[in-house]
Amino acid sequence: MGNKLSGKVAVVTGGNRGIGRAIAERLAAEEAVVVVGDVSGEPTTSKSSASELIFLQLDVTNQESVRSFVDKVLQRFGKIDILVNNAGIVVHKSIDEQTVEDWDRMMAVNLRGPFLMAKYVAPEMRRTGSGAIVNIGSVEAFMVNPWHTAYAASKAGVHGLTLGLAVDLGPDGIRCNTVCPGWIDTDLNRAYVEMHPDRSLIERELGQLHPVGRIGCPKEVANAVLWLASEESSFVSGEMIAVDGARTRKISLPPILDEEYRAKLSKLTV
Ligand code: NDP
Repeated sequence: MGNKLSGKVAVVTGGNRGIGRAIAERLAAEEAVVVVGDVSGEPTTSKSSASELIFLQLDVTNQESVRSFVDKVLQRFGKIDILVNNAGIVVHKSIDEQTVEDWDRMMAVNLRGPFLMAKYVAPEMRRTGSGAIVNIGSVEAFMVNPWHTAYAASKAGVHGLTLGLAVDLGPDGIRCNTVCPGWIDTDLNRAYVEMHPDRSLIERELGQLHPVGRIGCPKEVANAVLWLASEESSFVSGEMIAVDGARTRKISLPPILDEEYRAKLSKLTV
């Protein structure tokens, strides 16, 4: 598809499925060697003429697992140019139902994971004098769905981590940015849609929350990640970039005052 990342080595966490998988494939299509680290799945390699996609075991919450994963990548490829911190989970519970274990698990995957990965990858980027870290945050660091207190707190933490890494690692030639997806069609939130008896109705209503008239797909997040990982964004660091079809830019009005706009949107989402 292109050669924007020719000669680069990229690591993508949680890349077995969903957004992470789309990111891994997009970076590989630009000729990067991509190592996916995920908790499940067997270690494999798939190689085409220009790209290489490798799967290795990784639990981002576990310091030893992160250290050993980074060592394996370095032994095999000698460097890491791009780190995409994508692995994430969500627990959908009210504050009363949420347990301390739920809170700790979410913080461990969503926030300690990116911290540990950056901690072990940054010295290697510093050694080569350049690097790009792209975190997957969420628009839920700005606006929150009900029963997502811990998720929103973890993603707000990722945004803080992004600012800190951009400032601390900038002098070493390392940039750090965050892509904040809106509603993207993956297993992570498909459960919401499936909870509802009228699936097509809920899909239509979800689409209409977005000024572009639809929800997003993993490839659209991957395209933003590619830009932030490549030299095309060489002066961009410490930014949170929403990929959400302008959902978080629209102020809600009572439906009665919004009829004309909704009618226009419904033509896009039938
Ligand atoms: P998925 O649930 O589809 O995929 C998440 C991936 O992360 C899975 O492959 C999962 O592995 C892996 N993973 C989970 N825990 C760990 C761990 N401890 N170590 C390594 N890998 C792990 O999610 P999405 O693709 O939807 O989400 C990807 C990212 O995007 C997340 O950070 C999420 O918060 C964020 N996001 C998603 C949105 C959406 O609408 N989908 C919206 C905003 C943000 P396994 O298959 O074994 O569970």
